[in-house]
Formats: sequence, structure tokens, C-alpha cells
Amino acid sequence: MKRYLWCDIDSTVNDHWRRIKRNTDGTRIYSSAWSYDEIMKDEPLHHAVKANNLLFEKYNLSFVTARGFDGALRVTQDWLNIHKFKYNNIVIVKNMKEKVEFILDTTCHILIDDMTTGQERCRNNLTFHIEHIARLARKGIRVVWNINWDKILKALI
Ligand SMILES: [Mg+2]
Repeated sequence: MKRYLWCDIDSTVNDHWRRIKRNTDGTRIYSSAWSYDEIMKDEPLHHAVKANNLLFEKYNLSFVTARGFDGALRVTQDWLNIHKFKYNNIVIVKNMKEKVEFILDTTCHILIDDMTTGQERCRNNLTFHIEHIARLARKGIRVVWNINWDKILKALI
């Protein structure tokens, strides 16, 4: 049986921090950051598509994303499909805490997630959610948070 791998999207397979930078005053994120057209401008990270497609062969791979806005599922599907990501499911949750609850509730062996928020601030001042990683790790879930797709592929294939 294939093991279950869940993968985050924002800043894990895309460059969403660039979109946030275009749509912030440095303290708050404007709602324009979540518009269909803005999200579709995101670019996949280096080798993310290639790695995803190889991992899809080996794992039961699905995406989970904290996108708590109207139309999130449609734009997420369109973006993944246009860039030729392969997946079984897409699950939309409201925020990172809800994502962690979902992962703890579902079948998950590996979570790939940058585990950061705060992209509206400068890039060396992100919030890294180590408490969530610890909680997932205590349940035996392997959290891959250092996003380098060549290295992730080597570690997981
Ligand atoms: Mg993320």
C-alpha cells in the first residue's frame, strides 16, 4: 500500500511570498493577494513539478492548503492543473492551525510544508511554526519543512 503524503502549496510548491510582497504595506496583506488573477501569477519553485510527479508515483499524494477565502478551491485546482502537478485530492482549510488538526485527523505519513507565516514582513522575519511540527512529530508524522525539491526528492524516493 502506498503511504500517504500531504503537501502544502504556498511557499512550498510556489513562490507565494512574491505575491504577498506585491499586496502588502508590510503589516497587513491586502485582500487582492487572494484574487484569482494574482494567484495564477505564482510560479512553481525550482523542480517542484518534476519532484511532485515522481513522488506521486510512489505515494498517495494530496495537497492541503490554508486558503480561507471564497473561490479558493477553483483557483487552487486551476493553478495546479496548469502547471501539471499530479495529486489525488485537494483539501482547503482556513488557517495553519486548522491544517494541523486536519492532518492529525486524516491518514498522513509525511507532510511537506514550509511551516511559515508572516510573508508580509521581510523574508528573514517569518514566523516558523515549530510548535506545530513538534505536535505532528509526536504523532509519528514526518514533517519536511526545508523546501529544496532536489533534496526532498532524494530523501523520499
Ligand atoms: Mg506554506
